[in-house]
Amino acid sequence: MKRGITRREREVTDPQAIQAILDKGQIVHIAMIDGDEPYLVPMNYGYVMEEGKLTLYVHGATEGRKLDVLRVNPKVFIEIDCDITPIEGKVACQYGTSYSSIMGTGKAVIVDDVEEKMNALSILMKTQTGKDFEFNEKLVSIVSVIRIEVAEYTAKARPIPPGLMK
Ligand SMILES: Cc1cc2nc3c(=O)[nH]c(=O)nc-3n(C[C@H](O)[C@H](O)[C@H](O)COP(=O)(O)OP(=O)(O)OC[C@H]3O[C@@H](n4cnc5c(N)ncnc54)[C@H](O)[C@@H]3O)c2cc1C
Repeated sequence: MKRGITRREREVTDPQAIQAILDKGQIVHIAMIDGDEPYLVPMNYGYVMEEGKLTLYVHGATEGRKLDVLRVNPKVFIEIDCDITPIEGKVACQYGTSYSSIMGTGKAVIVDDVEEKMNALSILMKTQTGKDFEFNEKLVSIVSVIRIEVAEYTAKARPIPPGLMK
């Protein structure tokens, strides 16, 4: 179900600010539907943002629960966050956490094409390390790669209140 952000003033729409969250986040939480149970895994990701369209790549072992789940139901909900800073206050309700985050719905596709797998791992390493790495067929044959096509996403940020900035 598509819903707008409740605290509209915290919505992030600037593409550069959204890209900054993707650059810093490092971990995507991928929620799935395993029959009638929710299932979620945190994973490192690489991303491609083209004209506002977001694609994530993750990699891992060639077997396991998430692959079994995604083969049956490829629908996912993703969450990425960064800039987590505790906010303190004088009274309990002033405490909180500043953050920046992205959430969205998407579809997971298990990638079989060797060229796409090699490219995906280079993208993943670039996002994670800022460095360029190349992969060969042998290296990609021992991992699974999942492409997450993010259909819709929103971004939100709760900055540190000005009075509490160090
Ligand atoms: C910060 C972070 C980054 C990670 N990055 C990656 C990554 O890039 N690639 C990758 O493949 N994995 C990564 N992992 C591990 C990932 O979360 C999963 O454990 C892994 O992908 C295996 O998933 P699966 O469904 O195949 O696990 P399975 O081993 O098949 O899951 C079986 C059961 O084991 C339990 N389980 C699985 N994973 C975890 C877990 N992380 N913690 C506690 N219990 C668990 C659950 O109860 C699950 O039902 C990361 C974990 C963390 C915390």
